[in-house]
Amino acid sequence: MNRHHFSAVFLGIALFAQTCAHAQGTPVVQGPEAVADWFRAGQAFIEQSKSLHDNNRRAKNVVLFVGDGMGISTITAARILEGQLKNKSGEENRLSFDRFPYTALSKTYSWDQQTSDSAPTMTAMATGYKAREGMLSVNHTTARGECSAAVIDAKKIRTVLEHAAEMGKSTGIVSTARITHATPAALYAHTAMRDWEADSNLPTTDINTGAPCRGAEGAVKDIARQMIEVSPQVRKSLKVALGGGRTYFMPSTVMDPEYPKDKGRRLDGRDLTQEWVTSRAPYGQASYAWNKSQFDAFEPANNSYLLGLFEPSHVQYEADRANDPAGEPSLTEMTDKALRVLLKDPKGFFLHVEGGRIDHAHHAGNASRALTDTIEFSNAIQRTLDVLKNSGTLEDTLIIVTADHSHTFTIAGYPSRGNNILGLVREVPAKDGSPLKNSLDANGRPFTTLAYTNGPGARPNGRPDLTNVDTTHVDFLQEATVPLAAETHAGEDVAIYARGPKAHLVRGSMEQNWIFHVMMEALK
Ligand SMILES: [Zn+2]
Repeated sequence: MNRHHFSAVFLGIALFAQTCAHAQGTPVVQGPEAVADWFRAGQAFIEQSKSLHDNNRRAKNVVLFVGDGMGISTITAARILEGQLKNKSGEENRLSFDRFPYTALSKTYSWDQQTSDSAPTMTAMATGYKAREGMLSVNHTTARGECSAAVIDAKKIRTVLEHAAEMGKSTGIVSTARITHATPAALYAHTAMRDWEADSNLPTTDINTGAPCRGAEGAVKDIARQMIEVSPQVRKSLKVALGGGRTYFMPSTVMDPEYPKDKGRRLDGRDLTQEWVTSRAPYGQASYAWNKSQFDAFEPANNSYLLGLFEPSHVQYEADRANDPAGEPSLTEMTDKALRVLLKDPKGFFLHVEGGRIDHAHHAGNASRALTDTIEFSNAIQRTLDVLKNSGTLEDTLIIVTADHSHTFTIAGYPSRGNNILGLVREVPAKDGSPLKNSLDANGRPFTTLAYTNGPGARPNGRPDLTNVDTTHVDFLQEATVPLAAETHAGEDVAIYARGPKAHLVRGSMEQNWIFHVMMEALK
């Protein structure tokens, strides 16, 4: 049965039921479904499950989607918000990846962290190995702040992107964060410090040995430079890199083209955006784009390489993107373009897509932007399914959707079905026919469904009276218990969703680094 028709029909009944709800003694039907509908949906699920069969093909392509900080509560709340934006009650809605046939739980601790940052968690997925806090694709015997290029070279662990390049496949990276940020960087860079994104971020001397570091002979390269100077094999393979972080590629003597007050962050005087074009030229037509019109002008049919850096730092939140001065593509548009470049390779491809700013909005205590970025992340996954289906390669593509770690984000209280997910908790009334009423705390004040355990949303003078506050406003900061400048990550498991070749190996309770081993098993 087509779910959309199903929901649309019963939505009408639900609205009717609610408008009649004040009649004396009439039971309120909060959800749109009748008893038989729940049974029909359950039976349909069983029938679908019976027809599932293991796809044991070799994966021609692998796409790894990582929602940065996209814990399970974030997925639930985004699913409800997306449904409510379509005028449904929301809980029954399904994000694009909610339809994937296989799921598992992912344990996100790292070699030295109970609750991890993005560096070791993405390293786990990229290399098959759990690393140390802040380190990218080097092993745990690496000293913090290690500056020697020779030492890093000895300790580096090969990534799935590097393996795919060795297999002769094309590769790509798409993110709403800086392309040098921990999650995308773990695929192509090897370094002890995730913050060494431009050379100006490196210390002048090694904190362990006192040896000269930044710019010195034999010192490790900054992450932006590593992306340009990858091995010849990866250089040929890495066709698309789209995201933010432009100033990390620009010399400090050059002003940003979009924000003339910002300047480049490189002290070595190099313009790595131009070096991308010249270093890739031997392999094919290469371009650099920093705004939407240049991005749109790039035609995958007659171009091979595209570096797109659309902001000095991270790209805009989806909620703010329309106001960008020079215009920038959405995550869905970047993913679509990357796929059209990569699909030209008859040997297949590896693509990583990160919804990088779900995490940033959560750190800011701002659920609205975190959820709209999660919905856009889901849209990028749907677009991927559509593009692969149209190209006839969907069943040859392993698609994994997961998160690197969670956040302290909660869905709490006893809100009624269909209650605005960004709103105050309005509970099911004690008597049928009565209007929904706000839940109240011990002091008689209402509270929101969404909140954080810690972060900037903590109010130093106690709980505010939210009775007349628009908690659905895009800038509203959900309340938090522990006051912190930035809300933190959380340590519980995250979800993994999978479809395509070897997707059935995603099952049960998994260590995060096993995701790499599933991707490699599918590719081999
Ligand atoms: Zn974070």
